[in-house]
Amino acid sequence: MKAFNDENTDKNNFDNAYNVKIFLEILPVATLLNKRNPELYESGRCIRCNYTTETWTHIWICDQTETSIIQIINAVFENLKNKLDKIDFRINYNFHASLLYILNEKSKVVFNGRIFHEAIKGIVNERLFLEIEDKVFKDNIASFVEDIHDMARKFMWSERCKRFIEWEIRQGITKQMKKASKLYKSSLPSLGHDGKKKNIFISDVLQRWTGHYLNNDVAAKNIWYELGVEDLWKYNSLVTFRPSYYSSNFSILD
Ligand SMILES: [Zn+2]
Repeated sequence: MKAFNDENTDKNNFDNAYNVKIFLEILPVATLLNKRNPELYESGRCIRCNYTTETWTHIWICDQTETSIIQIINAVFENLKNKLDKIDFRINYNFHASLLYILNEKSKVVFNGRIFHEAIKGIVNERLFLEIEDKVFKDNIASFVEDIHDMARKFMWSERCKRFIEWEIRQGITKQMKKASKLYKSSLPSLGHDGKKKNIFISDVLQRWTGHYLNNDVAAKNIWYELGVEDLWKYNSLVTFRPSYYSSNFSILD
């Protein structure tokens, strides 16, 4: 959870906002936009494959992406392998296959997601340590996960946003329309600024989503109070919105 440990400054506020949103699965995907602005976004369908609804889970497994999560994992693995080779750290079996196998397993914390979905969020699942009790190796695995998180943003999320903006232009959805719709026509009730409710919400979110990972991580807890996450509060009903079932047929081992 390195991403949450940095202090929040103007410079990294943008990154922190992304990290929080990706962690809670509330990046502005079509299902969420449809709920937020049904007048502008009539369906939650994925504009790339035009087949399934676009949930947070789907972003990373859509078959119409230009860069696939498998490509990212393999590129990041090469990097890991080079670093281990450099320090002469040898593993006498095909640990690339072992890592892929684990990343493809069902996640216990991402609803209908895989362990690679956890990695995209920046969560280091300890099974990825392959039961190797070595600090250097564990640090390298943590960087491996961080690289997956960074590359997924850089190559997959930005690409999807680019395609989505092009789609919006084709639909005639302008910035002004988005602004006006957000202000006056949102289907979400305004939640006001009730401090007590807000604190209950924060504690709910922490327990539900970050539970056992963050139990003892004070820095991660503080982010809720220190970072400008008004967006989360405003869309509080969306945080309980659960992703789809579509990842059940997806595999990175094919
Ligand atoms: Zn799709």
